[in-house]
Order: sequence, then C-alpha cells, then structure tokens
Amino acid sequence: MSHALNLDHSTATRPASAARPSLIGLSKAGLAEALVGHGVVSEKEGRMRASQLWNWLYVNGVTDFDRMTNVAKPVRQKLSDTFNLDRPEIVTEQVSVDGTRKWLFRFRDPQNPNMPPVEVETVYIPESDRGTLCVSSQVGCTLTCSFCHTGTQKLVRNLTAGEILGQILMARERLGDFPGGARPDDGGLVPGGETRAITNIVMMGMGEPLYNYDNVKQALLIASAGDGMSISKRRITLSTSGVVPYIEPTGREIDVMLAISLHAVRDELRDVLVPINKKWPLKELLEACRNYPGLSNARRITFEYVMLDGINDSDAEARELVRLLAGIPAKINLIPFNPWPGSNYGTSPSSRIERFADIVNKAGYASPVRTPRGRDIFAACGQLKSESERLTKKDREALLAL
Ligand code: SAH
Ligand code: SF4
Repeated sequence: MSHALNLDHSTATRPASAARPSLIGLSKAGLAEALVGHGVVSEKEGRMRASQLWNWLYVNGVTDFDRMTNVAKPVRQKLSDTFNLDRPEIVTEQVSVDGTRKWLFRFRDPQNPNMPPVEVETVYIPESDRGTLCVSSQVGCTLTCSFCHTGTQKLVRNLTAGEILGQILMARERLGDFPGGARPDDGGLVPGGETRAITNIVMMGMGEPLYNYDNVKQALLIASAGDGMSISKRRITLSTSGVVPYIEPTGREIDVMLAISLHAVRDELRDVLVPINKKWPLKELLEACRNYPGLSNARRITFEYVMLDGINDSDAEARELVRLLAGIPAKINLIPFNPWPGSNYGTSPSSRIERFADIVNKAGYASPVRTPRGRDIFAACGQLKSESERLTKKDREALLAL
C-alpha cells in the first residue's frame, strides 16, 4: 500500500498555533527556561511565572492563557503568541457496557508539523474503590509478543512527555476531574468515596515504556508532583516486558510501582511469548526485580501472567512460578487472555485459572484474576492498536522537506 496516498494535507493548513511549541510536558525548571529563552518574561520573573503556569496547567487544567487571571495581561498575550497548550484531538470516545471508556487520541508531531498525525488509545477503568487510567507510551511497539495485538503494529514513534501527559489531562477533562469540571452524564464513573475519577495510572497501554524511558520518566514525575496533578507514586504502576537495564533506574529515578509481564516460567517458552526474553532471560530479569529500589512487603512487584489455554497454564507451571519468585515481595496478576482478530491463542477455561490461582495463593501470594474490562469496545489488556502507520524512509524524507 502506498503511504503517500494517506497523507493528511490538512497539516499544511493547520492553524498557526500548532507550530508554536507546547508548554505541556516541561519540568518546572524547563518552563522557566522556555519563558525566559523566548523573551516572554525577564530572567528575574522566570521562576515565579513558571510556578503560576504549573498551577494553571496541572492543578486547574486550563488550556487558555486568558484564564490565567493572576498573570498580567501583556504577559498572557506574549504567552499565547509564543506557545500553545494544545491537548490531543479526540477521534473517538467509546463507553463499554461495564463503564470502561476508551479514547482514540490524535497527536501531531511537535518537532515535525508536516508529518501526518499519530493516534493512540487510552482507557479509563472505573471500579468501586478506584478509577484507573491506562496510558500509552508509544505509537505501536518494537516488540512482538505473540499474544499481544499492539505487537502486530510496528513502532511508529515514541510519544513525547507532553503527549503522555496530554492523555492524562484530556481524560481528566472528559471525566470532570479539574476544579469546576462537569462529570459525564452517563453516570457511574466516579468511584465511591473518591473525589477524583482518576485515582490510579498504569503505563499499560500501547508500547514498551522502558523503550521510551526519558519521556515516560519526565511525564510521570510531572503527573506525581505534589504541587501539580499530585497523583501518588504508589498509585502509578509502570509495566515492562523486561527491559532489564532500565529497571533499576525506574525505581531510583521515577520511584513508581513496577509490574513485569512475565507470562512464562521457562526461557524456551518465554522466548516465544515475550521475545525480548532472548536478550534478557528470566534469570537476569528476576535478578533486576530482586534489586528493585524500594522493594518491600509494602511495595511489591506485580507479576503479570496471561492465561493461555494449554500453553502456560498447567499446575506444574503454577508451582514453578512460586519457586521462581521466592524471596521477591510480589503480587501475581493472572490475566485471562483477551482475544483479538487473527490471534492464535485461546483463553484458559475459568476452572483452570482458578486451580492455577489456588496453587499460587496457597504459596502465600495474592493472585487476583484480572476481570476483563471493556472487551466489547476492544479496550481490554493487549487489545489496543491504532491505525497509525509507519512511513517508508522515502515518504518520511519527502514530508520533512515540505
Ligand atoms: N509493553 C508493556 C506495557 C503493556 S501492558 C508490557 O508488555 O508490559 C499490557 C499488559 O497486557 C502486559 O502484561 C501484556 O503482556 C498484557 N497483554 C498483552 N496482550 C494481551 C492479551 N491479548 N490478553 C491479555 N493480556 C495481554
Ligand atoms: Fe509491546 Fe507490551 Fe505488547 Fe509486548 S505486550 S508487544 S512489549 S505492548
């Protein structure tokens, strides 16, 4: 198929605002630097204005400089002449019968405004005691786990820190999570007793977050900053397929909860299911887990284990799992396989999942079975995929030259 036919020429006539750099995704120091560097405020005012902006962007969720009432009018004007606060465009918003909500968001490449936009999916899962937002880190994935739908989509590109945060900001806006915001009228979205719709973040959407480490780190540090969005680091979980060299830095520098997509207890099988295992096999992966900074019984690692009928779901494998994880403070999350068009696996029968969970439980591990959510709108684990396609080198060069 020729990608050239897919070019969205509207990018050439996009509003001038899109060409201005975004302020979303900069650290507070980075904000000050941008304001001073673009001559919007003096060196002396940089830090103060950056703090004001930070509060408007992340506490109040403002997208219009004119609403920043404590910023002098001429400064507001300069700000809007120089920067943008754009959030992603919503291509679709679907609500499942179980209340799960899935958005398809569209982003333009801030560095290369001539490039076609990319799209990612973000999912909101309301439960009785929490509301979890499942955020994407990449468009597509370089890895090819054989049971994962995202893995069938080639990597298009990494998302920027601003785009990762953009998903959270947009979801909070849609769910009425900012001061003065309106809740959606389909009800049932706000978990009991919580004042916020989104209480938890999981980096479990499209992509491998540790292959986009710097941007994921920046976004999560901003999302968890106490004087901003203030989402507790204990309520943020990053899931990795096992990019071993980045596991220790994740704990030390981002300090969020860790989840490992384990899925198999033998290298031969894990090499097939999670091919990154060929690079960093089980022994190295588990060693990195043992050394995860801050690990304790109060801060356990979650091991995700997809239940594939007749592939990895035997009693012997349950016992081996327990043996492998000995000494690591862990929770085991059993995920019934979610099928997608063209997938070659079946979901383990529930009696098998129960038996497997029982063995793990008896060994002293909490092993909740993850109830599939939003399957009717294709929002469950491993079902996410967008139509964004990777361009050929030639198309890319042609576009960049526009
Ligand atoms: N790339 C990261 C983040 C994605 S998290 C990672 O792999 O950890 C999504 C979780 O859902 C991972 O544990 C992934 O292995 C799992 N998953 C992928 N496809 C699935 C499917 N079809 N059914 C159930 N779980 C799936
Ligand atoms: Fe990528 Fe994770 Fe899917 Fe594997 S499971 S292909 S790492 S998104």
